[in-house]
Amino acid sequence: METKNYDVVIIGGGAAGFFAAINIAEQHPELSVTILERGKEGLQKVKISGGGRCNVTHAEFIPSELVQNYPRGEKELLGPFHTFMTGDTIAWFEERGVELKVEDDGRMFPVSDSSQTIIDCFLNEARKLNVEVLYNHSVKSIKPIKNGFIIGTSQVEVEAKKIVIATGSNPKVWKLLEGLGHSIVPPVPSLFTFDITDKRIKDIPGVVAKNVEVKVVGTDLVSEGPLLITHVGLSAPAILKLSAFGALELAKLNYNFEIEINFIKQDFETCLNDLKEKKQSLAKKLVYGSAQFDLPKRLWKKLVVASHISENDRWADINKGQLQELAEQLTKAIFKVTGKSTFKEEFVTAGGVDLKEINFKTFESKLVPNLYFAGEVINVDAVTGGFNFQNAWTGAYLVAQSIV
Ligand SMILES: Cc1cc2nc3c(=O)[nH]c(=O)nc-3n(C[C@H](O)[C@H](O)[C@H](O)COP(=O)(O)OP(=O)(O)OC[C@H]3O[C@@H](n4cnc5c(N)ncnc54)[C@H](O)[C@@H]3O)c2cc1C
Repeated sequence: METKNYDVVIIGGGAAGFFAAINIAEQHPELSVTILERGKEGLQKVKISGGGRCNVTHAEFIPSELVQNYPRGEKELLGPFHTFMTGDTIAWFEERGVELKVEDDGRMFPVSDSSQTIIDCFLNEARKLNVEVLYNHSVKSIKPIKNGFIIGTSQVEVEAKKIVIATGSNPKVWKLLEGLGHSIVPPVPSLFTFDITDKRIKDIPGVVAKNVEVKVVGTDLVSEGPLLITHVGLSAPAILKLSAFGALELAKLNYNFEIEINFIKQDFETCLNDLKEKKQSLAKKLVYGSAQFDLPKRLWKKLVVASHISENDRWADINKGQLQELAEQLTKAIFKVTGKSTFKEEFVTAGGVDLKEINFKTFESKLVPNLYFAGEVINVDAVTGGFNFQNAWTGAYLVAQSIV
């Protein structure tokens, strides 16, 4: 088998791998840099990311606020974000001709609304800087030697002085890293939607409650935000945040648990008093037809029916028990979750290389000198909104800065 020699080999041609390679080649033009990618193309997750639009980062510019979006990595990323974070990402892409725009919820996308813009940028930069990309080169072994590593791939053997592991959530590579002495925190899915079969959300997919509070019964897990009713259950940030912050706990519950939803973010007593007033002020109106609390009409109707109030009941007709039931449905409705589904716009895996074994000033392994990490391979993951890519950019940038 032929052996090639490089200064730096990056294993994995995804978001973190390309960002690392480009920045290393730019900051250290004297180094030979190569990416080994197992696929016949790289950047496949970038391509499908953000529904094909690539949610590159999030318009949050304070490091201590930004880190709060990382259920795993909050403490460790604070320092790195002081070196490279959102503003730097925006500037990095702008300097290379890619303008980003911000949406109302803070998510940032290329103005083209196409992930291909990001891919083209990376491929052009890599070409300009003579980064070699070897596709169809799946890495099978990593052996430390004096002054470097021998990397066995499906095609050639490669020698490198330094290596960057940017293979995302790949169990085979985690096994190789265990062989080098690293501990791997067992992977579990993060960023998923909740499967729920319930009359109150049946046949109304697409309905959004703008701002709800959701708790997982029997745990400390709680989140707030928009809630989307889907064909199979519930989604949107209020749910996705719970799936990320509760990734380990919900896996232990085998995705069978109850949630309590406060649709109007008022406490029960305040809501009940409000309803009593409405009983007076709206006396002649049908309860079913007069949606309150800024709730979508279709959801309101479902909650009214669930409170044993008929379509023909006027506010004046309903009794104390029905008012209480309605207040309960509005402020502490219980739903049974029976499983999870993939959130198609973005999903990640919690777990990966134990953060205790990484130096976060350089992203170098504390156990194996000259071995660096970037991206999802480490035990960092974030809520939805562009934060997962920001982790990839930040880690990769710091590797490039320190890999001399
Ligand atoms: C559908 C979907 C949409 C998403 N959308 C967003 C979004 O809009 N915004 C956001 O912030 N995050 C998003 N994410 C998450 C984001 O894509 C990941 O966090 C990010 O891609 C991680 O980058 P990475 O480079 O670490 O890993 P990856 O992008 O997974 O890249 C790893 C690369 O390593 C290669 N590789 C693996 N094993 C080997 C091996 N043995 N030898 C050689 N090569 C190997 C893989 O083929 C791959 O190309 C999304 C995820 C999904 C699944």
